[in-house]
Amino acid sequence: MGKRDEGLRFVSLAHRLRALGLGLGMLPVAAVLYRQQAPLWLWALLFANGLLWPHLAWLHAVRATRPVQHEQFNLMVDSAMLGAWVAVMRFNLLPCVLLVSMMAMDRISAGGWRVLARALLLQVAACALVAWLTGFAWQPVSDMFDIVACIPMMAVYPVWLSTVNFKFARRIRQQNRLLEQLNRTDTLTGLANRAHWLETAAREMHRYLRNQRPATLILLDIDGFKLVNDRHGHAAGDALLQELAAVLRESLRSVDTPGRLGGDEFGVVLPETGLDRAREVAERIRQRVERIGHIDDTLVQPCTLSLGVAEVGPRHANVEAWIRQADIALYLAKTQGRNRVCANPPEVVAH
Ligand code: GH3
Ligand code: MG
Repeated sequence: MGKRDEGLRFVSLAHRLRALGLGLGMLPVAAVLYRQQAPLWLWALLFANGLLWPHLAWLHAVRATRPVQHEQFNLMVDSAMLGAWVAVMRFNLLPCVLLVSMMAMDRISAGGWRVLARALLLQVAACALVAWLTGFAWQPVSDMFDIVACIPMMAVYPVWLSTVNFKFARRIRQQNRLLEQLNRTDTLTGLANRAHWLETAAREMHRYLRNQRPATLILLDIDGFKLVNDRHGHAAGDALLQELAAVLRESLRSVDTPGRLGGDEFGVVLPETGLDRAREVAERIRQRVERIGHIDDTLVQPCTLSLGVAEVGPRHANVEAWIRQADIALYLAKTQGRNRVCANPPEVVAH
């Protein structure tokens, strides 16, 4: 979503909140004006402010080149107008406190303490000006009529605003979750990336150290992958990597973690799995990849893998040593002619 779209969403949300807030806020002001037997022009101003202004403010903001900045200006106009109404209401206690505190809540939601401070300053200035013009009229006592007129706003507005804030918070939580997910994922294949895969391997190592539960690693690398790129182009190479990722996903249990460690090298963490079972899994992957054959009508055969398998054991001082053992097995598979699985070679001592 573009920045302007995001801005327009903010403006339309402000529009709805303003229409509701000023609509409900008109009631207590109308109650006070009624008791004051206010002149017609004040009633006209009230209706203009409560019913017309929210839509005018919205129209101006959506047409502005910078809608969010214009909306900030609208928020300040609201505040000044409320300050004026406080003086017009002759400081009638309950309606004034209610309207000022509801608007404060709204300003904090819209822009935090800085927006609130600016809004309050404007409110005080507008209130002082109108109070001065009207000779500092002072009738703070609210009667039952004023109190009843405050109830709709008291009951509805905080619930509405909290709902909006809750939705915002939920959206941010969802976006954070997505960001976290992206942080752990290799963009080309959708598998775990190197950092996340290493974390998973380390977790399995700790489980082994704590509970002696078996776990095995498979490291695998495409044979002659450079040739695929050279002959068929980088896009075909990418497609092959994605195809390999799909084979890995199909060949593994949900508890296993396949990851792309970089280039054409992949790793799999197999929890609760001994060497023999892991060797079978590796062999199955090797055979399936051998059968890939075509990618997007391009012949990439023969596509073969070399795989190294290592089960965690007491000789591994840390996760790096365990991975090194699997890497040595992979290296052996490469040097023994490729397209094969080598597992935990006893003659190899991992340091
Ligand atoms: P070997 O049998 O010894 O593994 O030979 P190889 O050609 O596969 O050699 P190596 O594993 O060193 O080659 C890795 C190549 O992978 C080199 C690089 O150009 C290519 N590569 C690395 N990342 C990507 C990628 O994201 N997409 C594509 N298409 N190629 C990549
Ligand atoms: Mg390779």
